[in-house]
Amino acid sequence: MRRAEVAVVGAGAAGLVAARELLREGHAVAVFEKSGRAGGTWAYDPRADADPLGRDPGAPGAVHGSLYASLRTNLPRELMGFSGFPLAGRVFAGDPRTFPGHREVLAFLDAFAEESGVAARVRLRAEVLRVRPLGEGPGERWAVAWRGEDRAVAEEAFDAVVICSGHCTLSLVPKIRGIDKWGGKQMHSHNYRVPEPFRDQSVVVVGLGASGIDIAREISHVAKEVHIAARYSEDRLGKIELYQNVWMHAEIDCIQDDGRVRFAEGSAVAADTILYCTGYRYHFPFLDLDGLTVDDNCVGPLYGHVFPPKYAPNLAFVGVPSKTLVFQALQLESKWVAAALSGRAALPGEERMMAAVRELYRRMEAAGRPKRHTHVLWPEWVEYMNWLADQVGEPHLEPRRHEMYERALRCIWSLDDRYRDRWEEDEEHDGGDCGTVEVNM
Ligand code: FAD
Repeated sequence: MRRAEVAVVGAGAAGLVAARELLREGHAVAVFEKSGRAGGTWAYDPRADADPLGRDPGAPGAVHGSLYASLRTNLPRELMGFSGFPLAGRVFAGDPRTFPGHREVLAFLDAFAEESGVAARVRLRAEVLRVRPLGEGPGERWAVAWRGEDRAVAEEAFDAVVICSGHCTLSLVPKIRGIDKWGGKQMHSHNYRVPEPFRDQSVVVVGLGASGIDIAREISHVAKEVHIAARYSEDRLGKIELYQNVWMHAEIDCIQDDGRVRFAEGSAVAADTILYCTGYRYHFPFLDLDGLTVDDNCVGPLYGHVFPPKYAPNLAFVGVPSKTLVFQALQLESKWVAAALSGRAALPGEERMMAAVRELYRRMEAAGRPKRHTHVLWPEWVEYMNWLADQVGEPHLEPRRHEMYERALRCIWSLDDRYRDRWEEDEEHDGGDCGTVEVNM
């Protein structure tokens, strides 16, 4: 088996589990982390960007994390561990709840890094500035230029590089017709931390993903009115019964001449703030490679959302897909990268990998799915997980975990936060379906 020297960019959940799997496979690993600690997203940062829309992750002092102070996981802890190192069954930061707060997940990742031996391989305050191949064709080594704490820039060569730099930092802000007539405040959820600044305001929350739902609910306790603008909300338009002051609308149509926000179903409201909970863009400022692009939020081409065919297996991405069991996907992708580098898992040739990527694009187009959803796996997420498992000889996803994830999505979509504390109880009494809400994200 080949033993490679591997650079891992980023020490969030992806980088940590990638490093563990690489070490287990016998590779040598250096993890570069630009911040002062490991944990990535789960290291809550109370600061916000100077630009409330968070449009420039390269701005001085730009903040990586997008967690809000009150955040609890949206999946039960049983779905957020790693093999041999579960989050369930052990308490890491004094929060034993089934859906713990963010500190518990961070403490879990710290313990995982320590106990797996990965922590010793992490170089903190080491920002990767550039990753480039040292020659042409497969088998070439890679140069990693990085800046250390003393601001000095060094370059080191590795056999392979695994990109684990995350994708929940650079905000995706939709263009709204007439936004130039808007006199109020605009903000992206990347910079939302606490509800207090929205006291007595009328707020339009755009987007109905997990963050949008959490934030709309939290703001409703202090705001005068909360208006949620979302696609796929036709069957739930109007005031939401669960709350005194929350209304559901279709997506924003435009800002009217009088400055009010008009929704696609025809209603309009005067608001103080538009708060975009509209997701993030992939962004790899340290990569400028021939034939590898980010276009309309599609990173491509990527075979299995992991390997760019031209550079496989020596360049790989872990953590690109979303709307799946993230931690389990990170682990399977990491195992695949480690096994492909050692030669234990064989990858098809470049042409066959390209053909598979083209086939994915063709199927998406035929199904009418926009390019920007290339890495959004739901509803076919189980197929991907099982396909990954096949690549590395792991068992398929247990039906119980499949059902739990779908149930969690239904609960999120129900807008009723009580599911987090009633999870086990509901399971015992009525299956805990959070009603009959259709998942429609
Ligand atoms: P990150 O955690 O973002 O880590 C990337 C790391 O790379 C960071 O430490 C960063 O500093 C570093 N880095 C970036 N660029 C460089 C560079 N050039 N050089 C060196 N280091 C670099 N998932 C769940 O499973 N359950 C949940 O409940 C859940 N809730 C979420 C809530 C919010 C608000 C958000 C934003 C995400 C949530 N997620 C959740 C998804 C979450 O993103 C994943 O769980 C996971 O943490 C992603 O890990 P990552 O390592 O891919 O990225």
